[in-house]
Amino acid sequence: MSDLINSSLRELSAALAAKKISAVELATLFLDRVETLNPTLNAFITTDREKTLAQARAADETRKLGAGSLCVPGTPLRGQATASLPLCGIPLAHKDIFCTQGWRTSCGSKMLENFVAPYDANVVEKLAAAGMVSLGKLNMDEFAMGSSNEASFFGPVKNPWDTDRVPGGSSGGSAAAVAARLTPAATGTDTGGSIRQPAAMCGLTGIKPTYGVVSRYGMIAFASSLDQGGPLAKSAEDCALLLGAMAGFDARDSTSLERPAEDYSRDLSRPLDGLKIGLPKEFFGPGMDDDVRVAVEAALTEYRKLGATTVDVCLPNSGLSVPAYYVIAPAEASSNLSRFDGVRYGYRAPDYDTLEEMYSRSRAQGFGSEVKRRILMGTYVLSHGYYDAYYLQAQKIRRLIAADFSAAFEQCDVIMGPTTPSVAFPIGSKSTDPVQMYLSDIYTVSANLAGLPGISVPCGFGAGQPDKPMPVGLQIIGKWFDEARMLNVAHQYQQVTDWHTRMPEVTK
Ligand code: GLN
Repeated sequence: MSDLINSSLRELSAALAAKKISAVELATLFLDRVETLNPTLNAFITTDREKTLAQARAADETRKLGAGSLCVPGTPLRGQATASLPLCGIPLAHKDIFCTQGWRTSCGSKMLENFVAPYDANVVEKLAAAGMVSLGKLNMDEFAMGSSNEASFFGPVKNPWDTDRVPGGSSGGSAAAVAARLTPAATGTDTGGSIRQPAAMCGLTGIKPTYGVVSRYGMIAFASSLDQGGPLAKSAEDCALLLGAMAGFDARDSTSLERPAEDYSRDLSRPLDGLKIGLPKEFFGPGMDDDVRVAVEAALTEYRKLGATTVDVCLPNSGLSVPAYYVIAPAEASSNLSRFDGVRYGYRAPDYDTLEEMYSRSRAQGFGSEVKRRILMGTYVLSHGYYDAYYLQAQKIRRLIAADFSAAFEQCDVIMGPTTPSVAFPIGSKSTDPVQMYLSDIYTVSANLAGLPGISVPCGFGAGQPDKPMPVGLQIIGKWFDEARMLNVAHQYQQVTDWHTRMPEVTK
């Protein structure tokens, strides 16, 4: 049974279809792993065995009776045969930013420590409608602000490859849980890199779709014009299946795009002859560690062997992406987080004399220091006199960055580079230096500013402790709505390399 722990979603689906295992047995297998390994990793912050097993029993029932029996309130039934529900009975876990009816949704914050949402996020609904079984909720940086998962009210998450190191952030719980095989897959969100960066640091595949492809309904807002949900899993093939179940128009999110449903697996096996890969010189300059450079260049060699050619492209404004992001994201966050006032949601300070004191003490006590830093920055750049100097300038830069990508994509089909400048760093090494921390997003934020899809795939190992080499991620950025092509490019690489199949010691 233990080989099931490292199986792909397709293999799990086949095992369920062949009745080699039931959804209840599969859920139990993973819940037991969570119980044993989570005290070390701190990836899960909420589990509920009874709820999980109830979902698993329903999935077993669905597999027995056919998909028509699976009815999630408010969600249209999709397909009639179980063959149309390949994910039915497969466990996954949700980043704790997604609202889940009946389960606590904390967003990694004391502010929402006891918040139980009255409804499911669209992503949660859709994956449940596909028959997936939730194992619980995953740790994250508070309100998704961070690159290391050290900014969680529930404490840092440990990287399963080396528990002295961070798993990346803000979807660090998602990445650590999948890497340690506490779950076969997880949801995450990416505002400036929070799916791709932890995927890279934990040796996983993670995709941030084009802005608007996945509904933000019920996904607690950090920076609304940048936030996108997406999956983290072992391979591009798994991610394609999951994205198909997560994506789609949702009238409850005004930025959700009305586009026909897509089969993201349709191009997986397409050969790569003739593929043009753009290499922006800005992604290969100083600032990238040598071990990362060596692994990324070896991946490019592999792509050339597969028939791809590389062309140098230019993203002249990418040096401004981190400063622009750290104006726009905090500006939106300061507005989004104003709803947490101790009145309507979450934490309220126990002692206060006036209304104003209640607001200020609730926020002072309920938010952690990184969140407060973002609210201060955001309020500052939006304030009278600074709005034009900072916020408006950042918006103009954002437009230029998107235009740079449009121009680069005239010359190539996808853009490649490193996902992160370094491998996962030791816990505590950057937590007192916000600028250093923000710089770990240098290669990921541009795709969010431009709204483009991006994927990180494992491409080798860099230096860690001598006995604990750390994974390196290759980033592939696609054209708008070209997820299927991007997944094809990732999958073909995974057909000729085995980096994505390497797993940390805890999974053996
Ligand atoms: N690390 C970035 C930040 O702290 C991105 C976070 C994210 O994508 N949620 O804002």
